Amino acid sequence: MLAKSSTELVRQKNSALVLSALRRHGPLAHTELSDFTKLSSATVSVITADLERAQIIEKAEQQAASGRGRPRVLFSQRRDFGYLIIVVISSDAVQYSLVDYAGRLIDRFSEERPQEVSGVGPFIAAMRDALRRIAARSQLDHDKVLMISISSKGLVDNSETVLRWSPIFGRDEIDFAAVLADEWPAKIMLGNETLLVAAALGRQEENNKDSDFRAMAALSLGHSIGLGIVRREEGGGHQVSAPNFGHMMHVPGGALCRCGARGCIEAYAGFYAMLRTAFDVPLDTIPAKFVPIAELDKIAVSARNGGRRNVLAFRQAGLALGNGLSRVLSLHERMPIVITGPGVRYYDLLIEGITEGLAESHVVRMEGMPELRVALDESTLVFDGHINRAFSIIDNDIVKRVGSSIELRAQAG
Ligand SMILES: [Zn+2]
Repeated sequence: MLAKSSTELVRQKNSALVLSALRRHGPLAHTELSDFTKLSSATVSVITADLERAQIIEKAEQQAASGRGRPRVLFSQRRDFGYLIIVVISSDAVQYSLVDYAGRLIDRFSEERPQEVSGVGPFIAAMRDALRRIAARSQLDHDKVLMISISSKGLVDNSETVLRWSPIFGRDEIDFAAVLADEWPAKIMLGNETLLVAAALGRQEENNKDSDFRAMAALSLGHSIGLGIVRREEGGGHQVSAPNFGHMMHVPGGALCRCGARGCIEAYAGFYAMLRTAFDVPLDTIPAKFVPIAELDKIAVSARNGGRRNVLAFRQAGLALGNGLSRVLSLHERMPIVITGPGVRYYDLLIEGITEGLAESHVVRMEGMPELRVALDESTLVFDGHINRAFSIIDNDIVKRVGSSIELRAQAG
């Protein structure tokens, strides 16, 4: 068979529509599936029968709320069809989550990353160990895991699984697919953390009927500074990107950054940078690898009580962020900016600098201030971003597999 027949491609597309409706809306009745997918009732019957036979979805009866009348029959994903492992790498810990095919969280644990043990080797060894453990705790064979979805701060090549640069490992690259291939047949995905946040926010906007969403930026504040942009495409899909915002130039020849360059935004707005300003340490001091949040909390308390040096630390950080954001808006278009990450707890101290940094630019004077929002729970956005991306890829792969098995049966018959 040289080319897939066109009926087969249509069947794949329709199956993908059905699975994606179940992802977005949860368990659905036959008529609801037809409404959401715009497919005819007969087509929905064929597709759901195929997916049921392949053990991807299942039917369950749900008694009407009143307890009277005919029960509704709802389609949903089979929870044990396969599993997803999510790995969130942050500066002080790595979090592992196990999720079933219906998107439900089954197990989760976090491991501290000891600050004194550094280097890629020990990190990989610990990660392999933790992955084995999370599967073993639920008594899962490794081949039941469909995907391992990993996120980190830093530079990620979107089409690959290679971490090119990260605040944790610097220029020591990690190719996660190569490292895990011997033990895991699963597909390995790697994503920039703030890109996943932006993707999750885009999905939220899409589900909000009152929103006229076109584009949005997510700014994550913490040890490092991340930016993700999500834009709506002509056809209705979303395009997400994570420009290297934290290491964009803020002051030429300025403060020393963790990346080794001078004058980056992060070197003024990252946690270590705020600490440096607060203690009036020279700007070429080598950045601290990790700053406990309690240290910054103390500085924040003093700043809220009017401590001048500490007020300046937050103001300077805000200015760097505001200037950087104004450049992003100049290059793209005016868009709402959602501020998140552990640093959002200092929003009250940062906002003056951010506003001032934005206001200096031509684009803001011409078009006005962009809308600024705060999202307190970054970890949920990261998790949602993982789930959305992982299952849209998994579902698309499955639909192709189911399609080819139907085709084979048809040819054999
Ligand atoms: Zn830098």
